[in-house]
Amino acid sequence: MIEFGPAGRCELMDEQGIDIMKVPAFLNKLGLKTFEYPLTHGINLHRDKAREIGEEFKKYGISLSVHAPYFINLATPEDEKAEKSFGYIISSIGIMRAMGADRLVFHPGSLTKQSRDVAFANTKNRMRELVDLLNSQGLLEGIYLCPETMGKHGQIGTVSEVVELCTLDEHIIPTLDFGHINAFTLGSIKTSADYENILNQFKNRLGERGNLIHAHFSRIRFGEKGEICHLNFDTEEDFGPDYVELIKALKKCGTDGRIICESHGHQTEDSKTMSDEYFKQ
Ligand SMILES: [Zn+2]
Repeated sequence: MIEFGPAGRCELMDEQGIDIMKVPAFLNKLGLKTFEYPLTHGINLHRDKAREIGEEFKKYGISLSVHAPYFINLATPEDEKAEKSFGYIISSIGIMRAMGADRLVFHPGSLTKQSRDVAFANTKNRMRELVDLLNSQGLLEGIYLCPETMGKHGQIGTVSEVVELCTLDEHIIPTLDFGHINAFTLGSIKTSADYENILNQFKNRLGERGNLIHAHFSRIRFGEKGEICHLNFDTEEDFGPDYVELIKALKKCGTDGRIICESHGHQTEDSKTMSDEYFKQ
């Protein structure tokens, strides 16, 4: 089964004065089942407030994920920077636990001046160190780390790189950002078979765990270096990918997980559109 919901608060919530404490009731009315809380610009939330927010989501049975800060870079060759990244992840986990969220999405890293091979080797080594550190403190119990597939050529996070990162520990599942994958590959996702091919790479490599995904979905404008910006479903531009084809693939593969809509301001409406498509007879 798939749960659908938005990433962060949307334009509609702004217009209607729906603050974070009212978001769960709002989503519940629309039949949406999950929400991704953004800590993307920094961890500016107190644990007590996180606890209060979490209780409200729990009341309506809406699952929660957290998106860690953008500043994380596990591809860095510098120990000091890597340690800072570990710190962001550990602090995010603290907030997650207070909130009752069970998935932490993060961007693996950037190439900066390194070749892709070197940057990925660093990322994998750092990820191994991170997982050892978190496991030694019992911090991965009951949660998943979810490294994201990225949209720009200067970032780590192709499908095969994320598959590889997921092999490191049973508490790692992917964040498949299909808009990013499509932008990175300059428009390779067209049919449900293209989506199935991506989903199967995880199933083939990870076994049963490979059937469980976290995912982001939005249409994304791209150029020769990949992602440019997120669009809404009703934006009149010819950029994919197509959500109907995704839903066919999810059903055919029997995939479990969450699809978080990251449309540009219309993420709640577009989540609802996807949810209606998935649950229609
Ligand atoms: Zn992201």
